[in-house]
Amino acid sequence: MSGNMLGRKAINIVWIKRDLRTQDHAAFQAAENAGLPYIAFSLLEPKQIEHPDTSLRHLKFIYHAVKDINKILAKTQGYVHLWYKDAREVFSFLSEEFEIKEVFSYQESGTANSWERDKQMKTWFKDRGIIWTEFQRDGIIRGLHNRDGWEKAWYQTMNAPLIQNQYQTGKMLRIGVPFELSMHLKRDLENYSMVFQPAGESHGWKYLYSFTEKRGFDYHLAISSPSKSRMSCSRISPYLSWGNLSIKQVYQYIKNHPNRYEHKKAFNAVLTRLKWHCHFIQKFEMECRYETECINRGYDLLTYENNPELLEAWKHGRTGYPMVDACMRALIATGWINFRMRAMLVSFLCHRLDQDWRKGAYHLAQLFLDYEPGIHYPQFQMQAGVTGINTVRIYNPVKQSKEQDAEGRFIKKWVPELSRTPKEYLHEPWRMTSLDALFQGMKNKSYPDPIIDLETTGKRARKKFWSHKNHPLVREEAARIIEMHTKKN
Ligand SMILES: Cc1cc2nc3c(=O)[nH]c(=O)nc-3n(C[C@H](O)[C@H](O)[C@H](O)COP(=O)(O)OP(=O)(O)OC[C@H]3O[C@@H](n4cnc5c(N)ncnc54)[C@H](O)[C@@H]3O)c2cc1C
Repeated sequence: MSGNMLGRKAINIVWIKRDLRTQDHAAFQAAENAGLPYIAFSLLEPKQIEHPDTSLRHLKFIYHAVKDINKILAKTQGYVHLWYKDAREVFSFLSEEFEIKEVFSYQESGTANSWERDKQMKTWFKDRGIIWTEFQRDGIIRGLHNRDGWEKAWYQTMNAPLIQNQYQTGKMLRIGVPFELSMHLKRDLENYSMVFQPAGESHGWKYLYSFTEKRGFDYHLAISSPSKSRMSCSRISPYLSWGNLSIKQVYQYIKNHPNRYEHKKAFNAVLTRLKWHCHFIQKFEMECRYETECINRGYDLLTYENNPELLEAWKHGRTGYPMVDACMRALIATGWINFRMRAMLVSFLCHRLDQDWRKGAYHLAQLFLDYEPGIHYPQFQMQAGVTGINTVRIYNPVKQSKEQDAEGRFIKKWVPELSRTPKEYLHEPWRMTSLDALFQGMKNKSYPDPIIDLETTGKRARKKFWSHKNHPLVREEAARIIEMHTKKN
């Protein structure tokens, strides 16, 4: 019996994933151009949420980004639903109620978890004669085996015209379902910290405007400082990660901005990073095993001490190294820290505390408001020194502290136990005698002593990582990785 004979209304679907915006949106465009009315939704899927990379702050960001979309769409009575259910069950329910003809969404270069879900959904759609069109996201190409021609294609994509989405009044349907967000969950999601960057495309654009109008002029000079970077970096990462802005929108906006001529160095540095963004995701798209396995399989042979107490101290910003602790605490509170300090946190974990990178990767993933699997795992592994193709950089947290926060303002802000510590001791408070502390009115020493010694851990890490680079499997793997992920002209 055909769907129509059952009396079900024929519809299309827009399934929104990490593309929470209304403009430059191929899936919305396709649905608007197709003849049928359509339902648009984004999902908080229990099976995806259970995965240890996800945290409440991510869900809150999604929730508020959907709210932002709905504000924008209100003028055409458009509405994006946000439901709490696994995709398979949502589509099963909808196909009972409606005759689903086509589903439009973007390809997701996610973890194995979302990849598996998508494979199952593909079969499910196929079995029911539903056409699922997945659009390419941000120039990431599915099914590539090497990088030949990738860069050229990426620039072509970035320079192609933006999609100017238009919405017909009443074409997007609003329906009731049994898997709306519960009042309890809604209350949790509503409660969004003012310290986090606000979610949604309207805010993404505000950040981009303020960056190009003024904030970003010293971008290249301030990028490594944990405090200056908060102002001078673009801070568009959460908006890119959740697709509130497309890479193409940002690329074209910065490239064509009149201020670029006077601030070429700063603006070009960001344009380059937009390509890095996609370069890393392309890597992950080709090998999503990077979430749990070393990019270079030769590094899976390495063993670590993995002392759980040291790991806990790192996670909670209580290592006794002020810069490490300030960065971790700033990240816990605000969901963002700059690149250099992310690298230092990972290096401290893997090189100084001798922890397998997998011990900390989910912790940071949960804390980053801009968590993007395709960047996160390859970057984490690079900084952990397990790729075999990048220089292993073992950061000295005291040196970073003196160089990047000479006055100690960042440290004092995030490690209040040290707020009365004189500048000369701030980077190495353990050098302060009890008498010094007493003079400063620091009655009880609430800040911990360093949990490791820099000299011994530095020596150990250099020996361990530098010698392992010559292991035959590491070399063999390095050649494979270069072949796969490096362009050949
Ligand atoms: C261990 C580790 C984990 C990371 N995890 C993530 C992550 O989950 N999500 C994420 O977006 N970035 C991640 N990064 C990269 C980088 O730190 C952030 O993109 C950047 O700090 C975001 O701030 P911004 O938007 O102000 O960046 P800007 O410096 O203003 O750069 C603009 C954009 O370029 C891209 N970009 C910048 N630096 C990099 C880089 N090194 N690699 C790839 N893309 C880059 C981002 O999309 C960023 O929003 C990680 C870095 C490290 C060392």
